[in-house]
Amino acid sequence: MSLTTFNLSLIASAIPVAFGAGVGYYATYAVRSQWLGQTVWHGRTDTSSVALTFDDGPSDDTEFVLDALGLAGARATFFMVGQQVETLSHVARRARSEGHEIGNHSYSHPIYLYRSARETRSQLRRAQDVIMEKVGVRPRFSRPPCGVRTPAYFSAALEMNLRTVQWTVAGFDWKKLDAERIARNVLKNARAGSIILLHDGDSQRRRDRKETVQALPSIINGLRERGLCVVPLSQLLAIDDAA
Ligand SMILES: [Zn+2]
Repeated sequence: MSLTTFNLSLIASAIPVAFGAGVGYYATYAVRSQWLGQTVWHGRTDTSSVALTFDDGPSDDTEFVLDALGLAGARATFFMVGQQVETLSHVARRARSEGHEIGNHSYSHPIYLYRSARETRSQLRRAQDVIMEKVGVRPRFSRPPCGVRTPAYFSAALEMNLRTVQWTVAGFDWKKLDAERIARNVLKNARAGSIILLHDGDSQRRRDRKETVQALPSIINGLRERGLCVVPLSQLLAIDDAA
């Protein structure tokens, strides 16, 4: 799910209290905004690498994503929802055991803008704890649901030593697109250093990710044909992914 699917009028009405509408919108929603806190949205551009990232899982389709990545010999980063990790722990463990990285995508996928500082902190903490308990790693990367960041979010993320990672290029697979179109969306914009956003789950649990799965071979082959190497985020950003 993306920021573009949000009800912007609702957001505009919620913000003026704290920020003033224009500034608040930019700071909380704009993918590349650094106003409220440090946010990574691309990796090193001096290497020929890109990172594939998957949000909202694990889901029933995650294993198909893992199969496709395994066949292609590519490692990716999964921003997982804590609640989903509780339900599908074996899938989360499989992702880790196959060399993929796991990031924090909250416990139940709320939009932090509408949550108290306490609830925001609890969402991040619960996801950290569940991932640690079920998978045995403590994420170092966080991607807030729909990319929406607030001062309370940054303060909690800092406290938990989480680095906020947005994206450079989106496959727009949360829209009703076929595999060919998803692959085209990624390939037309991917460059060295790009962080690519895809989904292995659906926060609304309405849609499967079959088209994303089907797009993966074309995406990975297309990137490689351009001399781009698919690496996990920690490699693209040159830092450790988990403690
Ligand atoms: Zn999400």
